Parts: sequence; structure tokens; C-alpha cells
Amino acid sequence: MAQNSKIGWTDHTQNFWWGCHKVSEECRHCYISGIMRRGGYEPFAGPMRTKNWSNPRRWNRAANQSGKRLRVFTCSMSDFFHPGADAWRDEAWDVIRACESLDWLILTKRPELIEDRLPDDWGDGFPNVWLGTTAGSTKSLARVDLLTQIPAAVRFVSAEPLLEAIDLRPYLDSLDWVITGCERAKKGERRLMDLDWVREIDSHCTAFGVPHFFKQYYKDDLGLPREDGILDGEVRQGWPQSPHLVNRL
Ligand code: SF4
Repeated sequence: MAQNSKIGWTDHTQNFWWGCHKVSEECRHCYISGIMRRGGYEPFAGPMRTKNWSNPRRWNRAANQSGKRLRVFTCSMSDFFHPGADAWRDEAWDVIRACESLDWLILTKRPELIEDRLPDDWGDGFPNVWLGTTAGSTKSLARVDLLTQIPAAVRFVSAEPLLEAIDLRPYLDSLDWVITGCERAKKGERRLMDLDWVREIDSHCTAFGVPHFFKQYYKDDLGLPREDGILDGEVRQGWPQSPHLVNRL
């Protein structure tokens, strides 16, 4: 089945709604801006419900037929826990719950809103939902602290854009996966990432046995970012280890 995402760590993206509000420095060059403005929409006026709700059931059938789980990045053009989407979220949970052969990657910059927006049958976490938060700066580590208090089958941190050195060690015992990557923005506007910040996270992840996925970085400030995940000659693109994920490892 054709993938609808160019993001290296997912097979598909599913936007139940799109549009958002900026909440922190990691949002400065949010990519939804250009995409939505080109379509004639205002990106930062809050979420709007989309009409693309039937795709996941099709992907789920394909995953069942192939016997291979598929990853779905959820609300790549918004934030799944944005309060402006409260009216639609229960319906989205219904789709997520029904599509058991899809792994739903929900990445939020609003972890303080998660707990009150989980479905009643969440329990220790739906086995097909990976909950993540973004932390590209020391200030944002408070989000990681909040995330680690939420039960989930897989918890992850996206340190992208990585804006400074951050210390994830206090949280790594409670995390299953860490992503790192530089900011994507126009030359002259992007804030460059120091590879030493990635090296430090990589070594801490190794020490704690947490897989690290190094996504991309600009080798210099000229061209496109490298996306091969190579750090000091070695590919560093690990995935969470979990029993229900075994058929795709
Ligand atoms: S939370 Fe995500 S989608 Fe929303 S403004 Fe920030 S970067 Fe963009």
C-alpha cells in the first residue's frame, strides 16, 4: 500500500483536524503555516475538522491482510490534545480503538491536557497508541515530566527541533523511544543544531537501553538536511521494543 507520509518514522499521517496555535519556541517555524496558507486557510486560528476520517479503516484492512502493522502519525497538522478539538476527540478515539493493526503515534506539545482527554477505557493505555511529547529545550522538559505520569503502551520524546543541549536522564527509565532532529526552516531563519547535543542524548539513551532515532540535521547552513540517521559513522535509527510491535521489527 502506498504511504502518504514522507516522515521517516511513520507510514501514514491522519489529520482528524488541522490548524493550531503556537505554544512554545519549538513552534516558531511550524510547517503547517506554509501548507495551510497555500490552501487558503489560516493555520493558527485553531483546529478545523477534516473530512479524511475513512482512510484509517482502509489502512487497517491492508495491515490485517499483509500481517504488518502500520504506523500512523496522528494530527501532524495540529495537536491531538488541542482544546479546540474537544468536540471531535471521542469520535477520533473510536477510530483509533477500532483500528487495532495500526500504531497511532500521538505527539503533543500539550501534555498537561492529556489526562482529562483520555477515553474512559484507556486503562494502562491502548496497546496501539504511542504517546509522545516534544522537548527541544530545557524549558520543555516539564512536558516530559508530565508525560511520564500518563499510563501508555509506548511513551516517546521528540527532541525536534533540538534547540539546545537537554538532559533526558531523569526520565529515560519511563521512556521507550527518543527522536532527535534539527529545525527545518529557511536558510538564515533556522536555528542550527550542534551535533554534540545529539551525541549526548544518544549516549544517555544507550546507557538506559532506550532506542534513539536520529532523524535529520544540516551538515552546514547551505543545503537540505541529511536524513540518513548517521551519527559518527553509525546509523542511529532505533525503534521501541514492545511485544505487540514484534511483527514489524
Ligand atoms: S503544537 Fe505543533 S502544530 Fe501546533 S503550532 Fe506548535 S508545532 Fe505547529
